[in-house]
Amino acid sequence: MSGGRSLKTPADLAEAGLIGDAALAEVRQVAARYAVAVTPAIAALIDRADPDDPIARQFLPSAAELVTLAEERDDPIGDHAHTPVKGIVHRYPDRVLFKAVHVCPVYCRFCFRREMVGPDGDGTLAPAEMDAAFAYIAAHPQIWEVILTGGDPLILSSRRLAEIMRRLAVIEHVKIVRFHTRVPVASPESIDAELIAALKESGKTLWVALHANHPRELTPQARAACARLVDAGIAMISQSVLLKGVNDDPAVLGELMRAFVETRIKPYYLHHPDLAPGTSHFRLDIGEGQRIVAALRGRLSGLCQPAYVLDIPGGHGKAPLGPDAVRPAADGCWSVSDFRGNAHVWPPVA
Ligand SMILES: *Cc1c(COP(=O)(O)O)cnc(C)c1O
Ligand code: SF4
Repeated sequence: MSGGRSLKTPADLAEAGLIGDAALAEVRQVAARYAVAVTPAIAALIDRADPDDPIARQFLPSAAELVTLAEERDDPIGDHAHTPVKGIVHRYPDRVLFKAVHVCPVYCRFCFRREMVGPDGDGTLAPAEMDAAFAYIAAHPQIWEVILTGGDPLILSSRRLAEIMRRLAVIEHVKIVRFHTRVPVASPESIDAELIAALKESGKTLWVALHANHPRELTPQARAACARLVDAGIAMISQSVLLKGVNDDPAVLGELMRAFVETRIKPYYLHHPDLAPGTSHFRLDIGEGQRIVAALRGRLSGLCQPAYVLDIPGGHGKAPLGPDAVRPAADGCWSVSDFRGNAHVWPPVA
């Protein structure tokens, strides 16, 4: 299933039997607006017989993307408002996003940065922009953590990754380097010894956040790629988006969370879908999301519980959306809900 080349045009997708002739004209329109890429590993996962396949829904362009709603925006989570130099987003005091690359191995149809990612140019910051980004990090001692995202940082060659890591190594106040990536799922074969050695050049504590949304993405090959990272001493967390028609079902979402934990990946964030243009077919109601998350809490190990979060439009950061388990009650007491939804007074009345 690995090897071969990625599908990047509507004609490639049609030739691979992933879209029918009837859809081709609309898919061309979508592809003219938003980047398209499907790796061999992802193409192999798509069930061509299922018109509602959750993998296809995440990666194959659809006519629904041509519909843009008034509340949707090009910069849905307000990156621009917090960009002091190109490639850096500094929204929280102790950590920055470092978008060294704007290319991804696959382009998710619901991507929150879909207006910023894509295959233009060589995909990375220019040398002078790189210098400015590192200078910014070096000049701000409150930056404890650098989060490489993009784009997908693990799409870079090991040589370029090693170079970035060596430049971070000399910035004393940076203690943690985190990567947000889909590569272990989209191109598991590229998580090899050379790439891992490149990451370790930083000498920093490394965390990798894996983006996956459906349990079928955690194939034996993807799990093996993650095992190589974890065995090398790299901690892993997960990041998923709650998506209509993909994982908006407690059984599917629970299976996904269990697949992460089985792979030694601690579920971290479950994002409510952002207001990216042409993505309304993926969005559900927050109340529905809360019901799905509450159903996980009732059924699964504490290890399997992600935090359900929303990135507040305008650059205000993430806010927890989890159903409130605790409320003030009479006489200075609290009402606390258990995993079945039953309320209890705290402290208990003797
Ligand atoms: C999401 C995000 C982070 C990371 O937030 P955590 O809660 O630490 O995972 C950092 N900076 C920006 C700008 C973000 O959007
Ligand atoms: S991997 Fe991330 S940045 Fe790239 S298209 Fe998917 S959601 Fe967007």
